[in-house]
Amino acid sequence: MASSEESLRKALAEKQSAVEAHGNAVRALKAAKASKPEIDAAIEALNSLKLEKSSIEKQLQAAVSGSDGDGALSREAFRQAAVNTLERRLFYIPSFKIYRGVAGLYDYGPPGCAVKSNVLAFWRQHFVLEENMLEVDCPCVTPEVVLKASGHVDKFTDLMVKDEKTGTCYRADHLLKDFCNEKLQKDLTISAEKAAELKHVLATLDDLSAEELGAKIKEYGITAPDTKNPLSDPYPFNLMFQTSIGPSGLSPGYMRPETAQGIFVNFKDLYYYNGNKLPFAAAQIGQAFRNEISPRQGLLRVREFTLAEIEHFVDPEDKSHPKYSEVVDLEFLMFPRGEQMSGQSAKKIRLGDAVSKGTVNNETLGYFIGRVYLFLTRLGIDKDRLRFRQHLANEMAHYAADCWDAEIECSYGWIECVGIADRSAYDLRAHSEHHVKNVFDEGQREGNIDCIGTNLDKSGVPLVAAEKFSEPREVEKLVIAPVKKELGLAFKGGQKNVVEALEAMNEKEALEMKAALESKGEVEFYVCTLGKNVPIKKNMVSISKEKKKEHQRVFTPSVIEPSFGIGRIIYCLFEHSFYTRPSKAGDEQLNVFRFPPLVAPIKCTVFPLVQNQQYEDVAKVISKSLTTAGISHKIDITGTSIGKRYARTDELGVPFAITVDSTKDVTIRERDSKLQVRVSVEEAALVVKSVTDGLRTWEDVWEKYPHHTSGSADD
Ligand code: AMP
Repeated sequence: MASSEESLRKALAEKQSAVEAHGNAVRALKAAKASKPEIDAAIEALNSLKLEKSSIEKQLQAAVSGSDGDGALSREAFRQAAVNTLERRLFYIPSFKIYRGVAGLYDYGPPGCAVKSNVLAFWRQHFVLEENMLEVDCPCVTPEVVLKASGHVDKFTDLMVKDEKTGTCYRADHLLKDFCNEKLQKDLTISAEKAAELKHVLATLDDLSAEELGAKIKEYGITAPDTKNPLSDPYPFNLMFQTSIGPSGLSPGYMRPETAQGIFVNFKDLYYYNGNKLPFAAAQIGQAFRNEISPRQGLLRVREFTLAEIEHFVDPEDKSHPKYSEVVDLEFLMFPRGEQMSGQSAKKIRLGDAVSKGTVNNETLGYFIGRVYLFLTRLGIDKDRLRFRQHLANEMAHYAADCWDAEIECSYGWIECVGIADRSAYDLRAHSEHHVKNVFDEGQREGNIDCIGTNLDKSGVPLVAAEKFSEPREVEKLVIAPVKKELGLAFKGGQKNVVEALEAMNEKEALEMKAALESKGEVEFYVCTLGKNVPIKKNMVSISKEKKKEHQRVFTPSVIEPSFGIGRIIYCLFEHSFYTRPSKAGDEQLNVFRFPPLVAPIKCTVFPLVQNQQYEDVAKVISKSLTTAGISHKIDITGTSIGKRYARTDELGVPFAITVDSTKDVTIRERDSKLQVRVSVEEAALVVKSVTDGLRTWEDVWEKYPHHTSGSADD
């Protein structure tokens, strides 16, 4: 807990006792019929104590909400204004609205679609084109076997609780999180110790088992938010939408919860396409489906969303990146594990330092963190409200080497928008025969994998890469040779399972077995697929180390995966771009989105100043030139006042407006400064194009062209 908050809570508790003691003293004086001056003096002292208490309360409120106390309220008001504008101008709208909608499903309307397609076009340019990535496009409907191998069928779950009377479902961790946050922010009377406990619960939320979560919900007396009814115990709910492929109903499938699996299962072909060379990256943009338990927070938690994912395959023994030096000097907010654990906040760190000190696991991971930073800030995300937070040890999957989330702060708090993970060799192994055996190993060792049945899910295709040696190398190899005849005699139908389990042993296990067989002649051996121990005798398996010449090293590549939630990025971009400013008359607040030209849904509007045939003709000529130049624009020849027309386009975030007020030259107005320059009719489209293409800035244009000063751009 931040020390100021802790000391404020202590000071508040002391002041509260002092107020109570003084209150009692005043009552005692009154009961004893003390003199009026004496009572008045005591009341005055009590009032000043109350004032001091209220001042501490205010400071504490500010400390817990990280604002001036009114922050939470203004955040709500800000969000309301932004969301009203977004929905009114059809950036996005609840899907199936005329049927009262479905939670967690949204449509993008015309400007929203344009923003989304600009964001995706820039993503392709910034990542796919820049790194020569191999883009693929795989189906959303995925057979069960794929998602069984990847672990999603068994493990892609959230813990759910039900209102015991109405059956309404809630995400168990969200209820606990809301309870802790609300207590911390709104109940200033809790002790410093209680506050520390609640913060600890928040920090370890991801780590709680169903039983622990249930116990906390009971301990804190948490009930269903809508009805206050009691809640069931938490139980896992798989987030995938299930379907069946074909009419028979015999072939189960799911709508994919991520696009990555489509890339992994194609690894062999993609590796070949890339000339059997590493490293390389494949990319995919597509829809992902997650049947979220209780979606809320608008576009941030939805049941169908666009993911843009990169799978960068790299030799686990060499995670350097040829273009790492291009990002090494970037400096931005990073929030390493250590800082989180010790209650500090994110701080600016030079990326190169984070990698060289080992805070970021390797260069390639660092390279992508840097590229993601550049991508988001160039889109218009405020760099001061963007941080890279490292996963705590308890958040990371056991196979992951390191994980960082790009989190963007918006009115809902810090939101994970991009996950950047070094997933080691897990995914490729999961889909190849070899891995299935390794899963058995891990299942046996860690007791956390339901391995019975997993054996059915192997693809049989090794998803591996090879490094050819210039000279053959002599290596010592472990050879496990099960004696099938003896095993058949001993285990009959179970022979195959025992053979597979023996072959799947790793070196350490095999050598331990060898030593035990030599000393005792027999060992107990757990066969996962049989679910029991079997006795293995010396004559049933031979384990030895042999020298062999090898011409290549065959290995499973590691995968570094940046995964972008496009809807989340777009929503945060909407909030970071939104502001209001007073109208000229000062009687209303006008809404503006300050989108950079790169993402603006429409780059330019063209208005004749007044309704007049000549001006309309000029507007049409300019519109034609804009079309030829490939600039999205809108021509507005309605008779509405120019101020209203500007306000309408500011609300859509259109960066430039060309106003036709003569047949020779026109004005170009920039949205945020409202400044205008005069440009010839012939040049107008090209000036707008050069700025929207990033070839020059508005400042360059302002410098070069005569300024238009007569009247305000709002008039
Ligand atoms: P994950 O595979 O869970 O790390 O998710 C990858 C990315 O998808 C996250 O960084 C989010 O940006 C996004 N995402 C995950 N779940 C949702 C959701 N329910 N709605 C919108 N975006 C999501």
